[in-house]
Amino acid sequence: MSFLLQRLKGGLQDRAQQQLYRRRKSLSSPQGALISVDGKSLLNFSSNDYLGLANHPDLAHRANVSLKRFGFGAGASHLVSGHSDLHRELEEFLARLTGRDRALLFPSGFAANLAVQQVLLRKGDAVFHDRLNHASLLDGAQLSGARLLRFAHNDLAHLNQRLKGADAEGKLIAVDAVYSMDGDLAPLAELANIAEREGALLMADDAHGFGVLGKNGAGSAEYWGLDQQQLPILMGTLGKAIGSYGAFIAGSEALIEGLIQFARPYIYTTALPASVAAASLAGLELLQKEPERRTKLHSLVAYFREAADELNLPLMSSDTAIQPLLLGSSENALKVAEAIAAQGIYVPAIRPPTVPVNSARLRITITADHEIEHIDRLLDALAEQLSRINKVVDDEYAQ
Ligand SMILES: *Cc1c(COP(=O)(O)O)cnc(C)c1O
Repeated sequence: MSFLLQRLKGGLQDRAQQQLYRRRKSLSSPQGALISVDGKSLLNFSSNDYLGLANHPDLAHRANVSLKRFGFGAGASHLVSGHSDLHRELEEFLARLTGRDRALLFPSGFAANLAVQQVLLRKGDAVFHDRLNHASLLDGAQLSGARLLRFAHNDLAHLNQRLKGADAEGKLIAVDAVYSMDGDLAPLAELANIAEREGALLMADDAHGFGVLGKNGAGSAEYWGLDQQQLPILMGTLGKAIGSYGAFIAGSEALIEGLIQFARPYIYTTALPASVAAASLAGLELLQKEPERRTKLHSLVAYFREAADELNLPLMSSDTAIQPLLLGSSENALKVAEAIAAQGIYVPAIRPPTVPVNSARLRITITADHEIEHIDRLLDALAEQLSRINKVVDDEYAQ
């Protein structure tokens, strides 16, 4: 076998030994509070379908209607002939909703994060990242040629120190607006002040805030009351709370035109099918027509936190739909996840390298599709399994 494949095999063995091996499940049902896997029904606390829209009939219906008009494939990139009326309509909707000059659709959030940093940054510039930023932001920084300076999670004193020490032509500060594995928020209002003072540009990845936060669900920019001047680069995804697929960058005319002209992950890729844009539009309309989905989600989250706190579960500090329980070792996280899976409840164990070493956790996500009874079942199962683990630890100490 070739050296490269041999080395890869070694990597697979190491990963299994460290309890870090990942296995995929295949669903034979739509996304939702209950999913079907291997013929078994599971109560599901793993999706980012925060508003319960992924399986909403309006999305499927609108996609169907568009199929009659546009067929399926876009057949070309946006700059050639893949850009349809529906893509244009979706971009206009997103610009209005976020209060930005314009919005530009991307095939995925991953691509959008690569694109922005590649277009804006070059050698001689510096980009400042929170340590817990999403992998796609990090890869974007590394591809950009700029110097990457990371600061401790949500530590603005550390950021200030790094900004003062940096000798750079252009400066970009990039953060997740809601941290995907922690659920906490970046202090965007303070970050906007720092960026202004330092003449830096601010970018927020709102994959987990868009659709969930803010009075109208417009996301973190609305939640913090930040206009385009204060938060010039806003990334949002359509595959999470909106229940569809794809992503967008919203911002000034110059930013969007710059991306259209220069962003390689935008130019050299096929446009999303028009039916996906149609489904996104349906999801966004539901966001506006049914604010009760957000209200329900927020009250389920509050209910979960209060009850979990009473049970002394190791909750992390988060008020969003992402409610991780910190278990530390990968072994413990897997053990609890497997035990509650045996009771028909699916919560993924998130392990390094997705999260820092010794901070393995159960990433519980709550959606508007859940009911109080679902949350109660989860809490009972968690309390039982965690007391079992704590008992093992106590017994070990007692020996
Ligand atoms: C999911 C996610 C992305 C990637 O978005 P996709 O549209 O799924 O590619 C980017 N950033 C964060 C923080 C995410 O959670």
